[in-house]
Amino acid sequence: MVIVIVRCVVASSGKAGFSGLLKDLGGRILRSADHETRRIASRYGYLDYMIPRYREILGDLSEVVEMLEAFEKPLVKSVRINTLRFRDINEVVDRLEMLGYKLSKIPWERFSYVIVEQGRVPPGATHEFLLGGYYLYRGIASLIPPIALNPSPSDRVIDNAAAPGGKTTHIAQLMGNSGVVVAVDVSRERFRALRTNLERMGVENVLALRTDGRRVPELFGTYFTKALLDAPCTGEGIIQLDPSRKTKTVFDDLVRAHLRQVQLLLATIRATVPGGRIVYSTCSIAPEEDEFTVAEAIEEAGNVRIVKPDIPLKLDPGITEYFGIRLPEELKYCGRTYPHRHGMEGFFVCVLEKEL
Ligand code: SAM
Repeated sequence: MVIVIVRCVVASSGKAGFSGLLKDLGGRILRSADHETRRIASRYGYLDYMIPRYREILGDLSEVVEMLEAFEKPLVKSVRINTLRFRDINEVVDRLEMLGYKLSKIPWERFSYVIVEQGRVPPGATHEFLLGGYYLYRGIASLIPPIALNPSPSDRVIDNAAAPGGKTTHIAQLMGNSGVVVAVDVSRERFRALRTNLERMGVENVLALRTDGRRVPELFGTYFTKALLDAPCTGEGIIQLDPSRKTKTVFDDLVRAHLRQVQLLLATIRATVPGGRIVYSTCSIAPEEDEFTVAEAIEEAGNVRIVKPDIPLKLDPGITEYFGIRLPEELKYCGRTYPHRHGMEGFFVCVLEKEL
């Protein structure tokens, strides 16, 4: 069933908190740019305000350069074999290998492989793809949030901001097509891609709803046992895929993205039952979209705490101090990835638990 809701009004929280601290930060960051950060920005084609932030995150400029070099290299693609369509993972792997593919198992995810070498037919055009034998990812990190969510067949899951459905279809697979998943996205075009992917992958436990994710508590009340918000973000972790990101986002855009993310995260928390788990993720390494968003939302919600993600992959800790601003210590339990350290997109994940 697909329900389409086109218009809605969303009230803003109106409180300052960590969001308030961000408003003055842009000017301060720009003032901290020096000859060396400007030289690096100009050499790699980034806006001036970005490099001092990377120095603040990574600690020194030589590592910043390593990361910028990694952003120049293409991402490795990966596939998640879909056991909702093919019971035997090896059947799909063998068929791809017969097409000339070289695959390497990703050790921390049960169903997924890195494409080491592409075969004769592009991965989005094989029979196996069209039959729903696998989901194709442009990187690897998108596999992390569903594992951190760890849904079971008896869960009621909300996947807020779900299109085109990489994580929805992964969640449905982990649940063996049982339980219920509500997948929400606001974009008409991306919603179409979500529906196509649900059908192609043989997903039967998902209700897809096109609406603004901030309306989820109004529509469902406090109903979900598990919740994922893979938030709309500026994509500061996937510059390999979109080099225009080097220059298209000014600091005020980050603040606007942060405010929207806080609203979506608060709505997602409200719709989750006490004792329920909420996973927040972005494909951005911007603390403004990551730790600041979580800090603001947990302060305003007042009934969630951060817990360590239970996943078999070593992540870097979340940031707890940024340009002299102290963030809650528990943010260190969030996880970060960087292209030069983890060989994948820059990504952020944070697991929250709602108090009983
Ligand atoms: N989780 C998806 C996946 O794994 O395929 C990717 C989600 S993408 C990072 C963010 C999504 O948020 C976009 O599809 C965008 O249309 C959606 N979005 C933006 N604002 C939204 C809102 N207010 N409510 C719901 N979805 C929104």
